[in-house]
Amino acid sequence: MEHAFLRRAELSRPEVNAEDAARLFAVHYGLSGPIVELGSQQDRNYRIDAASGRFVLKICRADYATLELEAQNAALRHIAGKSGAPRVPRVIAGINGADIMFVEVRGQDYQIRLLDYIEGEPLTRRKYLPPVTISALGALGGRLALALADFGHPGLSRDLQWDLRHAEPVVRHLLSAVKDADRKERIARAMDMAMQRLDALKPELRLQAIHHDVTDDNVVSRPNEQGQLIPNGVIDFGDIMNGWLVADLAVTCASLLHHAAGDAFVILPAIKAFHAVFPLNDAELRALWPLIVARAAVLVASSEQQLALDPDNAYVSGNIDHERTIFDVAVSMPSALMEIAILQAAGRSADRGDAITGDRLLPEIEASQVAVIALDTQSVLFDGVPWSEPGLEDRLLLAASRENAVVATRYGEYRLSRTVPLSPEPAETFAVHVDLLLPAGTSVAAPFGGILKITGGGLILLGRDAALHLAGIDLLPGQDDFIHPGQPLGVVAGAPGEKGMLRVQLCRDKEIVPPSFVSPGHAAAWAVLCPSPARLLGFDSDTPAPESASLLARRQNHFARPQKNYYETPPQIERGWREHMVDVEGRTYLDMVNNVTILGHAHPRLAEAVHRQWQRLNTNSRFHYASVAAFSERLAALAPDGLDTVFLVNSGSEANDLALRLAWAATGVRNMLCLLEGYHGWSVASDAVSTSIADNPQALTTRPNWVHPVMSPNTYRGPFRGPGSTADYVAAVASVLEKLDAEGEGLAGFICECVYGNAGGIPLPPGYLKDIYAMVRARGGVCIADEVQVGYGRLGHHFWGFEQQGVVPDIITIAKGMGNGHPLGAVITTKAIADALEKEGYFFSSAGGSPVSSVVGLTVLDIMRDEGLQENARIVGGHLKRRLEALGQRFPLVGAVHGMGLYLGLEFVRDRETLTPATLETAAICDRLLQLGVLMQPTGDHLNVLKIKPPLCLSRQSADFFADMLERVLSEGW
Ligand code: PMP
Repeated sequence: MEHAFLRRAELSRPEVNAEDAARLFAVHYGLSGPIVELGSQQDRNYRIDAASGRFVLKICRADYATLELEAQNAALRHIAGKSGAPRVPRVIAGINGADIMFVEVRGQDYQIRLLDYIEGEPLTRRKYLPPVTISALGALGGRLALALADFGHPGLSRDLQWDLRHAEPVVRHLLSAVKDADRKERIARAMDMAMQRLDALKPELRLQAIHHDVTDDNVVSRPNEQGQLIPNGVIDFGDIMNGWLVADLAVTCASLLHHAAGDAFVILPAIKAFHAVFPLNDAELRALWPLIVARAAVLVASSEQQLALDPDNAYVSGNIDHERTIFDVAVSMPSALMEIAILQAAGRSADRGDAITGDRLLPEIEASQVAVIALDTQSVLFDGVPWSEPGLEDRLLLAASRENAVVATRYGEYRLSRTVPLSPEPAETFAVHVDLLLPAGTSVAAPFGGILKITGGGLILLGRDAALHLAGIDLLPGQDDFIHPGQPLGVVAGAPGEKGMLRVQLCRDKEIVPPSFVSPGHAAAWAVLCPSPARLLGFDSDTPAPESASLLARRQNHFARPQKNYYETPPQIERGWREHMVDVEGRTYLDMVNNVTILGHAHPRLAEAVHRQWQRLNTNSRFHYASVAAFSERLAALAPDGLDTVFLVNSGSEANDLALRLAWAATGVRNMLCLLEGYHGWSVASDAVSTSIADNPQALTTRPNWVHPVMSPNTYRGPFRGPGSTADYVAAVASVLEKLDAEGEGLAGFICECVYGNAGGIPLPPGYLKDIYAMVRARGGVCIADEVQVGYGRLGHHFWGFEQQGVVPDIITIAKGMGNGHPLGAVITTKAIADALEKEGYFFSSAGGSPVSSVVGLTVLDIMRDEGLQENARIVGGHLKRRLEALGQRFPLVGAVHGMGLYLGLEFVRDRETLTPATLETAAICDRLLQLGVLMQPTGDHLNVLKIKPPLCLSRQSADFFADMLERVLSEGW
């Protein structure tokens, strides 16, 4: 077969330099201005910034068929006239009125055209493309294909090396120039595989005009409000032709493999979106993956060949790694798997027929003898056990086998023991096989007929519908024997009297050796390819799929709506360990946001203490028992001298509510000062002094008249900036006080967080509280320090936040961490203030200070002391802050890093001068961090601050992982 493209592929580019281009612009279009060259594999493109706009001069060899250039121009005009079509460049005629001109440059003839330059960013430079971008690219391709569906032109019948209908001869030809034998052989093999799958589908692939180069490089995008690129325009119609419609999508998908970080499943949102705009038929969907592989093969073969001909072509040499990556990702995935995943993405049933049935694999084993053990994230076997310990699964199976003749694992289970903490990718947790621990010597028989293949550790029985993979068997028949259904295959390996491990797996693709475990994102496709062997085993070893989505719907039906959940599509988390949380698919997340759980999750010592106390007694604090006395004593000892009287309650809201009542009782006055941008709780009184508009958008207009908010002393973005702003903020409070003084109603007190927790851990200006406390006390008011969030050791350098300001409050409120998640709160104050409440009768909070709560509180303090958690917060927090500050040097989005210890706030701004909050970017960054295995949420009135407040047991390695992931998001995009 002799095609023109085989010749054209060997031509080098026009020899037209920038000076030549400037002359062409001037002579033929009357344009002048700065010129830059744009990349092209076979042509030359120059952009000019002229007074009348930006234009692109496209120069190709004179022997390039003019009819094809006319087709490109006609297509651009056709698309521009279609509603719903993407943006495309306009064709600009020359001074002589012609769209295409023949010119001579240094003795060589060329054709030139002018298009206007459409503004926007290509996707190529962003390493990471979020699903929203990928989906938009797919939809854009669909809209373009739809616009071209009724376009015809004689110039579309072309011989192009990119036409995937000719991929096989093209690759064969191009490969003749590739020297590396290995590389050559891999490309040829991939091509063969693709062609095998494609052949039967070809008659059903629709033909039409296609752009055939809608890639990351040839689309222009605008950022959405989150800073994610949304492609909306298409350029470079140089490959437009009549071809397979689905090949257009294949080209787009292949370009996305460069952004896949090794996971070809990233293309699925593009396919789903294209299919939604322009539905593909079944054959087209099945042809898509082989065409993507074929495109990858053509790309890589072409670049290798081009480079051999024109070693100085920087465009080609710059792209070759890019193309090798695309090819490597394409060949890393089994084609059958990708076909299933693509059909699933398009909403088609990917079911490949009935369940695999047959005779019993283990004729001697009765279902009643089998104990199927659960190793999922909610299995009791993992309670109190560090589940990442090596060999744990084997130990659990062995333990179960002491009491059961046969122990089996479950198929389709996300195994907790397979999770990997601190990993940017989800671990391969989903089991697509069953393991059996059963007496050695147990007979194994063929469930269906087929050819036997012997492998390293076992066998593959190649049946009609599927291959059966067995490991752990002493074989009877030999290689390539034909096996009849029911024929003995061998016995379970192992010494007589011992148990042996048999691994059983089915795979509908007979060409591959499937993995035993796959990642959650690939589970649905693998489950089709490697179906359950339950029918052959004769007992139910299947795991019900987690129902996280319906569970969320149930939550939304009955759990009152104002109680929001983190994340739009939240992972279902049912387990934790130290600073890690695990969802039901076995994905481990680093918990950087759980200020409540200061000890870390599932602390065995705390669990044990609580369990013991629950077995003995739990009642209310009007009874006399030891722990309430011991705990109150312990809290009083932690507080500064004079603050020796403790109320035990159940939450921060309750503690602050009570603190306000104490202030009222002690002073007989109602007026309270509080800081703007603060949060103190949900109860009527604690809510009244909460002014954070992030928590309550109406906060500023709905305060009762006894609440007097004062200017937020936010030294980062408030009206006065930096540590020298103390006097200005104090003056702002003084002016509120003057007004109150004039009204003559007196002052009950002042409540604030001593480090601005709600704003992301911003320290108050130096000396601020000294002055404010003095002004409040001078008026007879009491000073309340809300230490619910920042106190109790979290700051590392200090146990209490007020220590940082060098003051001592009259009332301290605490909650959150003191119970490590158990509802526990406290008010610590002076005897005089506490006694003032007596006038109003007695105080009683049913579960406050109960035996269980008191034991929790005491045990938390014991563990904090024994494990040095405050010290850990100081050291690891200091390290983390330095790492985050270093990110600030590199990424302008990082406006500041606030806080100390393990209460840090990283504030994102769009502009360091105006401090415009990067609110939407912060939300998108948090979503991306979730994918990378980090739990993080925004805080502050503008929700533009990462609220970094992990369990205090955070390891240095975990802190580094967080900083690494954040660095990755900031450099790769979100
Ligand atoms: N004060 C501060 C500073 C808080 O951050 C919170 C909770 N976010 C509360 C009080 C209220 O605590 P709780 O949720 O336990 O009622």
